[in-house]
Amino acid sequence: MAWRYAMMLDPAASDVSPSSFADTFHAVDPTAPSLAVGELSAQRGDGVFESIGVIDGHPQQLEPHLERLAHSAAICDLPEPHLGQWREAVAAASAHCGPGESVIKLILSRGVEQGPSPTAWVTVASAADNSRARAEGVRVVTLDRGIDSGAAARAPWLLLGAKTLSYAVNMAAIREAKRRGADDAVFVTSDGIVLEAPTASVILRIGGTYVTPAPTGAILHGTTQLSAFDWLTAHGHDVEYRDVPVSALRTADAAWLVSSVRLAAPIASVDGAAIAVDAEVTRSLNAYLLTPHD
Ligand code: PLP
Repeated sequence: MAWRYAMMLDPAASDVSPSSFADTFHAVDPTAPSLAVGELSAQRGDGVFESIGVIDGHPQQLEPHLERLAHSAAICDLPEPHLGQWREAVAAASAHCGPGESVIKLILSRGVEQGPSPTAWVTVASAADNSRARAEGVRVVTLDRGIDSGAAARAPWLLLGAKTLSYAVNMAAIREAKRRGADDAVFVTSDGIVLEAPTASVILRIGGTYVTPAPTGAILHGTTQLSAFDWLTAHGHDVEYRDVPVSALRTADAAWLVSSVRLAAPIASVDGAAIAVDAEVTRSLNAYLLTPHD
């Protein structure tokens, strides 16, 4: 991954409507320090973010990403982001992407300790090469998320449905998966319901229907899963949001991890037991996900 560009934003109030937000951004050197030492995103992971896949300079699924940024901010009691300002920032950042696959990150943090306002910035980088995971698939292990299926409703302060900057647990789960000889993890509740991967949504095919766990507060609503369901529906397939017991993951006709930069990686094994890989559907779905679309 190589940095291409970065900009700091002066977050606008959600109710202003200037003709342009250009004077609220300024470019910074992505390889040089830009944040204050009191920055709460760095001290506490207190903020939210989005990673947007970019194909040939086109940010994929921009509106669902912006909506999720606003949703995450609301869950975390951060000021409502002005989506017009973020849209304009993404358009300016996209100009620095070049051909091929890139990633634009949007970050909104609570700001500097005792400071007056939130901090926000946007980065542009080339995307990591995910061709092997797309072609060969990934081995996953199921890991207990340490919560039951009622936790999101019972304990909203866990911020389970927000894409917060606190990804230390997610990264620890991937390290644990690697220690167990796998490539990635799938989180499950303590009562055996599939949630999501540490950095991806899970889609399964069960009896011909494409199924994903309902984003009812415990997981993120994946923008790639939304795109995949659009494509599957357009190709005449049935899609459904429902609870998925972990046993269904082990016996699925096929399953995928999907996310904005990796796109669709077929799951090749679950807890050491192989599951079928549908190479044809994976190829066609990724061909769609690699085509610029909204
Ligand atoms: N779930 C988690 C925890 C994630 O971190 C991500 C993406 O990073 C996803 C799901 C997939 O979301 P998207 O498809 O919008 O990238």
